[in-house]
Amino acid sequence: MRFLSESPWYPTALLPGKNLHWKGLDSNSARAVLSDSGYSVSAVFTFGAGGCSSACAALLPGKQRVLMKKIVIFTDLDGSLLHPRTYSFDAALPALNLINEKRISLVLCSSKTRAEIEAYRARLGNSHPFISENGGGIFIPGGYFLNGNIGEKKPATYHVVALGKPYEEIRKTFTDLRDLLRIKVKGFGDMNAEDIAELTGLTFEEASLAKLRDFGEPFVFEEGPREEFLEAIEENGLHWTEGRLHHILGDNDKGKAVNILKGLFEGEVGKIHTVGLGDGFNDLPMLKEVDRPVLIPKEDGSYDPRVTLPNVIKAEGIGPTGWNKAIIDLLK
Ligand SMILES: [Mg+2]
Repeated sequence: MRFLSESPWYPTALLPGKNLHWKGLDSNSARAVLSDSGYSVSAVFTFGAGGCSSACAALLPGKQRVLMKKIVIFTDLDGSLLHPRTYSFDAALPALNLINEKRISLVLCSSKTRAEIEAYRARLGNSHPFISENGGGIFIPGGYFLNGNIGEKKPATYHVVALGKPYEEIRKTFTDLRDLLRIKVKGFGDMNAEDIAELTGLTFEEASLAKLRDFGEPFVFEEGPREEFLEAIEENGLHWTEGRLHHILGDNDKGKAVNILKGLFEGEVGKIHTVGLGDGFNDLPMLKEVDRPVLIPKEDGSYDPRVTLPNVIKAEGIGPTGWNKAIIDLLK
């Protein structure tokens, strides 16, 4: 029984043979029957997008049910999977390879725009859903969730769940409040790609992608943070959060988006086990939603004091170094 439950980790063991027979049940699942020395056990395997086994529910002859939970990892990018200054994920390659080997779903969940995240998905070879602009948008590749009938069955297209308010609306409130309160704040809408590259350390090309905003405006205080500006944002029906920069946004956060995706995964494969990794205040709602929250330290080695959760794991190492070690420790 244990052999069948663990066999998705080494799928060649599941090739049909003298002792192993398969029977298709529907377009997403099949039953494997293993026979040896007069005993037989069977297991139902469910397959997700790409043909990978995404869950296994095995039945002992006595009808005892054994479940192997699917793991889904949600991760922040800047300062977490990506180094806070160089934006490199190289130090996390061992853990990324392990995630691929184990066919675990890695969901990127960032304050970055759709276009920026798409560039990182291509570099990482990642084809899972992703969350943009602090939970403003959830992008699900077509056909990814077959049971929930989410998305057309064309992987090149997305089903988009928009939780954020339109950028134009947010930008107007931002400029109205700035004019009203006469506070020196500057948003990405006031900057060209060179300015953003200089502020953030992104390349010119990356900074151009960072300007393609759908759901929120990153901004900086030019003369130090002003509490009254943040309060005015809330009083005017919008919200703010803080990652590398401050952000003004609608009624969305990373946690709400993670919660929706968790529901979609569970509709597909049953109960899942979730891990979340982040380094900032804007990651707190996401970390609250997962079973194993991991807090990555800032470049100076400190942990964001606002992220206080009883079960949080404090990663050891900056950005992708801490990310790598935390994931390997959790998966081994
Ligand atoms: Mg971050």
